[in-house]
Amino acid sequence: MIEVRGLTKRFRESEVLRGIDLDVAKGEVLAVIGPSGSGKTTLLRCLNCLEAPSGGRIRVGEIEIDGTVALNRQKQRVRQLRQHVGFVFQNFNLFPHRTALENVIEGPVIVKGESRAVAEERGRNLLAKVGLGDKLDSYPARLSGGQQQRVAIARALAMQPDVLLFDEPTSALDPELVGEVLSTIRSLAVERRTMLIVTHEMNFARDVADRVLFMDGGVIVEQGSARTLFADPKHERTRRFLRKVL
Ligand code: ADP
Repeated sequence: MIEVRGLTKRFRESEVLRGIDLDVAKGEVLAVIGPSGSGKTTLLRCLNCLEAPSGGRIRVGEIEIDGTVALNRQKQRVRQLRQHVGFVFQNFNLFPHRTALENVIEGPVIVKGESRAVAEERGRNLLAKVGLGDKLDSYPARLSGGQQQRVAIARALAMQPDVLLFDEPTSALDPELVGEVLSTIRSLAVERRTMLIVTHEMNFARDVADRVLFMDGGVIVEQGSARTLFADPKHERTRRFLRKVL
């Protein structure tokens, strides 16, 4: 489903991704862990072309992005990629002046040109699925952070993406609201959706992820099944990180 080769990203002189190679199979759930500043968010944002890669290439399904070519010279492919890859932000990023349902149908209607009726039907179902069937007409400010994040997840699902990317989806939440969002994501993992989740929730990573990637200094230092990586890390850098967080 996803193939990344030699992906690099520079912000001015600092090289934040230093040659990432990554393959993700359909239905696989990956947790991306690592110290702050190791490039996890940047990797995710490059996968959706929210950041322009500096080099290498990214393929999602049939869509290939050449990291050596400016994004505005491959606009059509970038647009396609974004339709296939859903992104859930740390800070939800909902439209504040739109209701929950309006937030969810915006993409399908405006970007995909779906009829309002079809988009609304799916939107209602998705909001019910994330436990917000009674909040269709609520504005984000009237929802808790956990509810807002669940709207954001429904909004990502509304585009019927092949891949879902989660960028620290619970780190802006009060501790008592973390569980409801994690259980929503867990239910998507059970459905075998292809997902990459940047997370600081190590127990969650251990529970839901088929594979855990440990990043440090802009490279994938080590990856493996959650059980292997947590119980028997091979690299000293992984061990040092896990000692701090576990
Ligand atoms: P992580 O998600 O692992 O905490 P990030 O991908 O957010 O790491 O950041 C990796 C590095 O890239 C950090 O040193 C950060 O300061 C830098 N960085 C991220 N975004 C930008 C940006 N837009 N401009 C300049 N530097 C950035």
